[in-house]
Amino acid sequence: MKKAMPNPGANRSILTVTYLMVGLFVCMMGYFGYFLQVQKDHVINNSYNSRLDRFSDRIVRGKILSKDGRVLAETKEEGEERRVYPYGSLFAHVVGYSNNGKTGLEALGNFYLLSSHMNLVEQTVNELAGRKNIGDNVITTLDVDLQQAAGEALGDRRGSVVVLEPDTGKILAMVSHPGFDPNTLGEDWDRLISEENTEAQLLNRGTQGVYPPGSTFKIVMMLEYIREHPDTWQDFTFDCNGLYQQEEYTISCYHGNVHGHQTLEQAFANSCNGAFAALGQEIDLGKMRNLTDQLLFNKDLPLTLAYSKSSFKMEEGANLWEILQTSIGQGSTQMTPIHNGMITAAIANGGVLMKPYLMERVESAAGEEIKKFLPEAWGNLMTAREAEILADLMRRVVTEGTGSAVRTDAYSVAGKTGSAEFETGRETHAWFTGFAPAEDPRIVVTVVVEESGSGGQVAAPIARKIFDTFFDA
Ligand SMILES: [Zn+2]
Repeated sequence: MKKAMPNPGANRSILTVTYLMVGLFVCMMGYFGYFLQVQKDHVINNSYNSRLDRFSDRIVRGKILSKDGRVLAETKEEGEERRVYPYGSLFAHVVGYSNNGKTGLEALGNFYLLSSHMNLVEQTVNELAGRKNIGDNVITTLDVDLQQAAGEALGDRRGSVVVLEPDTGKILAMVSHPGFDPNTLGEDWDRLISEENTEAQLLNRGTQGVYPPGSTFKIVMMLEYIREHPDTWQDFTFDCNGLYQQEEYTISCYHGNVHGHQTLEQAFANSCNGAFAALGQEIDLGKMRNLTDQLLFNKDLPLTLAYSKSSFKMEEGANLWEILQTSIGQGSTQMTPIHNGMITAAIANGGVLMKPYLMERVESAAGEEIKKFLPEAWGNLMTAREAEILADLMRRVVTEGTGSAVRTDAYSVAGKTGSAEFETGRETHAWFTGFAPAEDPRIVVTVVVEESGSGGQVAAPIARKIFDTFFDA
């Protein structure tokens, strides 16, 4: 048999075709790679949410994790994709939801959750095969143990607990009651948003709930008085007989307590309303307005979550009744728990407010770090000296005043209680805001419990449970 002669011409054309195919494939790989790596971020970044949502056709939404990697939200594929929240209602407001609109971290982290940084070859193969890529994971600042302690301590009462790290602004926990179960949001939606429902379960009370600050506002009054009398503020004294009368108006101390002779430090520690109503008549209302502006009342907060603005309305020329009421945190002043927590955090951090944040870093599904978020200072709410004086005064609230529920040998707490009236004949809202350790603050806890009684008896014991958990006491 005649051996087939090699045909160099045919071989050359086969080779050419092969090179062409390989070349095309390389180009295609290159394009996919380029799109996945470069264009996609650009496309997603410049898209509206509806367009961004279309990425969910190509990407399995990433996970939201606690700071130690526990799953707070993930997408499971059992036939069809389902977003699962393993802790049920515990993280409902802060983690949020991604159906029926997006809230909380599901909204904040949407771009990252719908981006994939799996290895490029794997991504390209998936793209070509029409399979979805796995989205990146968002690792948050949230601490499951603190969140659980806060949720349990609040129990079935309405209110909120916000826990911050003062020197970074990290939000360690944020609980709002009553809550909802994000796992069954679809079925519960109509009931949750119906007009007959007055529970407002979808409201994140920590950032959107506005309350009269009650005696926690004495922190602000105190700061104003110290500013106006930097060298003589300790000379202020007041004799309390339980009722402070001015013209036809009467300000009473909580449950008619009679505090007797009070220095300003004692009046702050015991939360003597009469003393602060008297002090309020001495302050310069124009300067007070400047201070409340500086403390971010009536202002935008450096906060990425949905929030309500706090309001302070007293102006120069205000009448006596408004001055008396405002001085004890009543009247028209309204605050959110996070805002009260931010002022407390600034006191704990030498006057500097750190921007509160929730996203610590973004990782690919394989655990490779894609992005890291760093603490950012917003600016000074007060001087370091003012912060130091307020911290000392807040320490005395705990050692000798209304904050005795957080007094312990295990760690030192500085704080302020408040019992805010909001409607005659109804129980007061209970407040506590404070930090620990008093001398080197690592954690700020702010608690509000609606219609529940006094801050010292109701809110401070809740804060105690969170401090105990944090310090493992
Ligand atoms: Zn008093």
